[in-house]
Amino acid sequence: MALLFVDLDGFKLINDTYGHEAGDALLEAVAARLIEEVRPGDTVARLAGDEFVILCEQLEQPASISALAERINVALRQPVAYGDVSLFVTGSIGIAVGHGTTHSADDMLRSADSAMYAVKEKGRDGWQFFSDSLEEKVRQRLSVTQGLRLAIERNELTCRFQPIVAADSRRIVGAELLLRWHPAAGDISPVVFIPIAEMTGSIVPIGTWVFRQGCLAEVDWRQRWGERAPSYISVNVSTRQLSEENLADEFAAILKETGADPSRILIEITETSLMADVESNLRVLRRLAQLGLRVAVDDFGTGYSSLAQLQRMPVSVLKIDKAFVDGVGKQTESRVVIRAIIGLGHALGLKLVAEGVEDEAQLMELRANGCDFIQGYLFFRPLEAQAFVENFERQLLQGRPEVSAPLFFLLYVSEAGRSMSGEEIAEILRSSRKNNQALGITGCLLYQDGCFMQMLEGKREAVLSLVERVERDPRHRNARIVVQGDAQRRVFMDWSMGYRDMSKLEAEPDFGDWRKRTISFLELAEDARTCYAYITAFKHAVSIDRQ
Ligand code: C2E
Ligand code: MG
Ligand code: MG
Repeated sequence: MALLFVDLDGFKLINDTYGHEAGDALLEAVAARLIEEVRPGDTVARLAGDEFVILCEQLEQPASISALAERINVALRQPVAYGDVSLFVTGSIGIAVGHGTTHSADDMLRSADSAMYAVKEKGRDGWQFFSDSLEEKVRQRLSVTQGLRLAIERNELTCRFQPIVAADSRRIVGAELLLRWHPAAGDISPVVFIPIAEMTGSIVPIGTWVFRQGCLAEVDWRQRWGERAPSYISVNVSTRQLSEENLADEFAAILKETGADPSRILIEITETSLMADVESNLRVLRRLAQLGLRVAVDDFGTGYSSLAQLQRMPVSVLKIDKAFVDGVGKQTESRVVIRAIIGLGHALGLKLVAEGVEDEAQLMELRANGCDFIQGYLFFRPLEAQAFVENFERQLLQGRPEVSAPLFFLLYVSEAGRSMSGEEIAEILRSSRKNNQALGITGCLLYQDGCFMQMLEGKREAVLSLVERVERDPRHRNARIVVQGDAQRRVFMDWSMGYRDMSKLEAEPDFGDWRKRTISFLELAEDARTCYAYITAFKHAVSIDRQ
């Protein structure tokens, strides 16, 4: 015989949206459709809520059952008319096959139920047989669940710290706390046990334990290194914890008890879970932010963030998911996505961390696009606490490292040798753009009241020789270099030479975008290009002639 466990997908939404009468009508329609699909002699029953079971006895071959399941899926997909609205649901169907003599009703139900869950996990609206591998999964899930309950008491949990480095200087600026579980039977990866802990709720006590460990590490670092300590520690918090009523109170108590500085603790929440329930998450996050904690969006790019919602969240960091970092050296699409994420993040005043950086090519690309921080095996794997301390001390001993500067920038001003027609200027722009492209130089030229101001960036020799040519060019007089130096990344990534005639400017440049961004004076002073971009801000203005 075969047992089909049918669970409707999206039934709750119908109830919540159209009311229980609509829900009842839908259940009746579903029941009628199920009866229509089965053979005479089969049994259709409603177990509870939106769960139905179908019992098919005297089964000839399993193939006929999959055909039945398929027909049921198709039948359930058809809309149900209710008043003048159409109600849509689908079904997830789990199938168990067995013999009445050897399998108890309970066994059959449990197996069919597990198979149904597997369908839900795979994306709903489908069917699946219960199988040995599924059974293995169920067994594993059960033993993980039981083991996790005791993991804290038995001291089976430990913390790793994966350093996060500054993209420019490669120096450690912080670390992410990553949980490890060592049950007696052998280590189990967080990729396996965290989802199970989330499902069963044991993530709540474990998450509290993790947060306390994060606080203790923060205090320890400050005691060891004072002002020179890494500036933050990242702690993962699962959405299941956010839905705990007293989470903020609990965190507040732990902060107080440990003496940790909340502004040096970054709470990481995955994008998917953050956006799953915006309103209630927003409430909790605001409370956490009031405690002084900062928030990062983890695995950014894999979920579906509403940008409007993102702006309302008290978020200060975006972590770009490894999936995009992986593709960055190879696929143009990933490169485009990375640029877009970094641009978006910076426009919202956020810092960007790239996750899973494994090679130099990825690092270069991320740096060129202005990514602030890097986390990945290229620099460090997750380290044990002691190893983290040692690595950080080594860095302190080294002092400020020589930062390899891939680029050189230069800003000069000059006077126009004579007045030029628009036609002539256009011609000059055309030829310099071609030249710059060939030399790998990018930049922007401003013109006002007979004076030029130009920013150039590229290889040192290329930039310097271009400036030498400018100095000899009769169209420029009194060329004078204002500032020059090493640059980590391009400001004018996509322009071989932007141009603007400032005297034709109708309105003042729009600083709107910049005002929203927080720039520290230090950042301005250290980075002449930021300074330049800030002062001119023309990059964002509408009328600029790009290319
Ligand atoms: P995550 O928060 O996105 O953490 C980053 C994961 O990427 C970590 O895996 C880290 O070891 C791995 N990783 C970092 N750099 C590289 C790299 O260059 N290459 C590769 N291949 N991997 C890299 P891990 O430690 O296995 O953790 C997996 C996930 O488990 C975490 O993803 C996080 O979602 C969850 N997790 C870990 N610890 C905790 C915790 O304490 N609480 C909660 N709620 N979740 C946790
Ligand atoms: Mg994380
Ligand atoms: Mg992540």
